[in-house]
Amino acid sequence: MSKEHAIKKIVIVGGGTAGWLAANHLAKNLITQNPNSVKITLVESANIPAIGVGEGTVPMMRQSLQHLGISETEFILECDATFKQGIKFVDWTTNPIAGKSNYYHHIFDYPKTSDVDLTAYWLKNIKNTGMSYVDALSIQGQMCDAGLAPKMITTPEFQGAASYGYHLDANKFSALLAKNAVKKLGVNHLQADVLDITQHENGEIKSLITKGGQTISGDFFVDCTGFKSLLLGEKLKVPFKDKSDTLFVDHAVAIQVPYEKEDAPIASHTISTALTSGWVWDIGLKERRGIGHVYSSRYTSHEQAEQDLRAYIGPMANNVDSRLIPMKIGYREKFWHKNCVALGLSQGFVEPLEATGLLVFDATAKMLAEQFPSSKLDMPLIAKQFNERVTISWDNVIDFVKAHYCLSKRDDSDFWLDNRASDSIPDSLKERLARWQHQPPSAYDFASKFDIFNLENYQYILYGMDFDTNLDNFQHRLAKDERASEEFAAIQNQMQFALSKLPKHRDLIDKIYQYGLQKI
Ligand SMILES: Cc1cc2nc3c(=O)[nH]c(=O)nc-3n(C[C@H](O)[C@H](O)[C@H](O)COP(=O)(O)OP(=O)(O)OC[C@H]3O[C@@H](n4cnc5c(N)ncnc54)[C@H](O)[C@@H]3O)c2cc1C
Repeated sequence: MSKEHAIKKIVIVGGGTAGWLAANHLAKNLITQNPNSVKITLVESANIPAIGVGEGTVPMMRQSLQHLGISETEFILECDATFKQGIKFVDWTTNPIAGKSNYYHHIFDYPKTSDVDLTAYWLKNIKNTGMSYVDALSIQGQMCDAGLAPKMITTPEFQGAASYGYHLDANKFSALLAKNAVKKLGVNHLQADVLDITQHENGEIKSLITKGGQTISGDFFVDCTGFKSLLLGEKLKVPFKDKSDTLFVDHAVAIQVPYEKEDAPIASHTISTALTSGWVWDIGLKERRGIGHVYSSRYTSHEQAEQDLRAYIGPMANNVDSRLIPMKIGYREKFWHKNCVALGLSQGFVEPLEATGLLVFDATAKMLAEQFPSSKLDMPLIAKQFNERVTISWDNVIDFVKAHYCLSKRDDSDFWLDNRASDSIPDSLKERLARWQHQPPSAYDFASKFDIFNLENYQYILYGMDFDTNLDNFQHRLAKDERASEEFAAIQNQMQFALSKLPKHRDLIDKIYQYGLQKI
């Protein structure tokens, strides 16, 4: 390979979670395989803080931590992390009626694969008994309701009685990733403010110029500068595709509050409560709760949004400062352009309803690392594929998040009514919802491996939100009633066992601080 085209120096700009995830994945795949193959430098400003929100993750994070060589105990202790078994959606299906709330769970445990269509069986035989979809198909909704952890102290790291992700302190997570990248994986870390960017004649990025006058040259650049998108957006002028006509929320106001009592229970799920112009996230870490109101400024004022948040929290929010966070909803037309890839908020962002930020950024950082070209000559085709795949992932996330809004029957504000307007719903989602009125979702609805949300996720949301699938034309799939009822009975038995054995979530976290989890 000619020296001129070799990619030997990778420069990442930005030290938020996206920058450090990128550094870890690239170094793990490139430097640990062949120590002299590339040099990776991460440049971050000491003056521009990382966004520092993003406290909910999904189960894929377990695989990433394992892949990057971070132990679960170390992660829990250093990031104040707790376990997350899904999301409890409160008041999303309808407005609270006579002050009475409604809720459903989107859990992380997938029903075990079976040749019996358990969903169709539930629709036909169980739904009308009042047993929720989630409780019929899994033990995890009840585990959450009982405040239980997904595992015991003797369960090895990264394994559980049910699937789980984590809640974490985003700034502490960045610090842990930074330590791992620098100390274990050989990444160079530089603190500097990037003031200017120079280009080659062909438009590729040549170097960064820092405030102190230093020139940092590179063969390949990763833009992790947050919403600003300094390299891909500002310098290379890759346009932003705004999706606020589909997803209306554009701001968050966030507060961190201590627990009322030291030994207060810690929820092992995120609580997402719908309000009139958005929704509130409520996430329990070991010492505090992180709570935020995500809302649309087209439908409410910032002052009202903050008042609604404080009313949700109650007296614990008195005298505690809040933080206003503007959000840009959408993604770049391309994520890889010339010799630059954007990862993190600089690539795109969809509101945090399903905690998709870290998930998409982690998955795309991994994709970049696994596909990374050693020569610039190979870049165009890999970049084309990368752009196509990542676009599929974003569109899938947008459809899934939008589904929560358009399945809602809330009618207490224009925000909810407008969310169901046909022109705000992507055609891909409209088609699926129309199909599912006459048959339950199936694997055929999910053609791409790059769909972030799949069959089971949609099933939990649809049937949690009382979606009506009419099975009149679907009788041929309803034959094996006997087998199905045996499988449902087995789930209920498993439930009794799990509920009697699993510890309370806080008790497990306390024990992990004392003893640690068993290494695999
Ligand atoms: C309200 C809200 C809630 C969220 N909740 C979740 C959630 O529950 N789960 C989830 O997975 N994700 C969530 N996210 C997304 C999450 O915040 C991001 O995934 C994550 O923090 C990645 O951010 P980032 O690293 O791309 O950008 P940032 O954290 O903004 O980091 C940008 C970095 O770039 C550096 N930088 C910028 N300009 C320069 C410059 N000129 N020179 C040098 N360095 C520079 C900064 O110093 C900083 O280090 C949420 C986001 C928002 C807005």
